Amino acid sequence: MQNKDDEGRLIFVCDYCHQPWDDHRPMVEGHRGSLICSHCLSIAYAEIVQLKLGAPVEQEDKCLLCLEHGRSDPHWRSPLVEDAIACKRCLKQAAGVLHKDKDYDWQKPRDPSED
Ligand SMILES: [Zn+2]
Ligand SMILES: [Zn+2]
Repeated sequence: MQNKDDEGRLIFVCDYCHQPWDDHRPMVEGHRGSLICSHCLSIAYAEIVQLKLGAPVEQEDKCLLCLEHGRSDPHWRSPLVEDAIACKRCLKQAAGVLHKDKDYDWQKPRDPSED
């Protein structure tokens, strides 16, 4: 999402940890300007996609990245920001986007089952 810094300049911050975008914290955009940073994505991807944690959400809850309510796939909840939820589909999509981005050396977390 967008925010203002102390001097009123527009900055981009991750919707899941509220940290600002910088070179060490690339972000992937969801719908309507929602953002997930590489740090949150690494944690969420490992928990939801690799460890298969997470649960479907209630109808009133929505994934901030696709804005769909009550999806039945597993969801990640940010430990830092209340109601900051991401569905598995969006996490996989975001990880794919960032993984392919040559400007950053972000890699999908390694799958422990592949050892
Ligand atoms: Zn973040
Ligand atoms: Zn989603």
